[in-house]
Amino acid sequence: MNILKYGPTKSMVRTSVRIFWPLMIAGKRLSNAPLLKWLIYPFFARPFNELTSVPINVKLDTPKSAALPRRILHRLLADVDEKFILGECICRAHDRVNAPPRDLGCMVLGPASARMHPSHGRFVDTAGAIAHVDRAAREGLVANVAHVWIDPVAFWTRFRDLMFICFCDDASCLYRTHMKHRGPSLERAYRRLPGITLAVDAKKCTGCGTCANACFLAAIEVRDEKATFSESCAGCGRCAEVCPEGAVAMTIENEEMLYQQLLARVREMSDLPLKGMGAQGAERRGGVQ
Ligand code: SF4
Ligand code: SF4
Ligand code: SF4
Repeated sequence: MNILKYGPTKSMVRTSVRIFWPLMIAGKRLSNAPLLKWLIYPFFARPFNELTSVPINVKLDTPKSAALPRRILHRLLADVDEKFILGECICRAHDRVNAPPRDLGCMVLGPASARMHPSHGRFVDTAGAIAHVDRAAREGLVANVAHVWIDPVAFWTRFRDLMFICFCDDASCLYRTHMKHRGPSLERAYRRLPGITLAVDAKKCTGCGTCANACFLAAIEVRDEKATFSESCAGCGRCAEVCPEGAVAMTIENEEMLYQQLLARVREMSDLPLKGMGAQGAERRGGVQ
């Protein structure tokens, strides 16, 4: 291995993940403990942690916008040159599960992708990256735009040269699991996409609690047989997806504003060269809905 050209191989990353895994889970649980919680806090807060969920498999309650959150991600992919897909999801590989498919790995964006050892996966063009997102949506995964300290540590890259888009499930994902037991210092580990709102239709809601069980942040409470959301909601869309009555509606106020604010978040956390308006962006310029 050319250690100057590439970072660690796949088997080396697997080993470091095995070491970090229990630490991350312990960190979430201990984030409730006096004193300790403030030591743990920086590992889940800015500037070392920025996670934005994108509900790629949820239909929004807005005309013509069934695939809107996914389109936002498509635009981002068109605006970044370097895109590398990991050949396996590290979390599902760690848990040795194949459903959702293990080969639906994270996507690495930015100059740091050149440091990915070839054993991890492959470079793709925008069409290949979009096809990967669409497949993840079909598999019911939630996308997360992520700048998290653990990634540059694991891949030996500069923090600001790297961005991940992860396609996560609720059973294996190192980040999504165990968040129900987080302490208050982890309250802001996930941020909602700007401009996304959720509402429950009280006439349709039966109070069954399916959404509350599915919420990885425990951000839903059923009171008086109606679901209510707390401020912790990250807008991942899982509740809207699982509600048997179709009672949870996600809406988006302004696609253009949402996209520009997402770009601003990425720019704040990284030095990724962003075109700002890619092919699809240009196509949709002025396409406010
Ligand atoms: S963060 Fe998500 S996509 Fe990435 S390795 Fe974990 S579950 Fe897989
Ligand atoms: S899953 Fe739907 S019907 Fe059941 S409590 Fe949640 S919003 Fe109400
Ligand atoms: S309430 Fe929970 S499941 Fe629903 S969008 Fe928010 S974080 Fe996701």
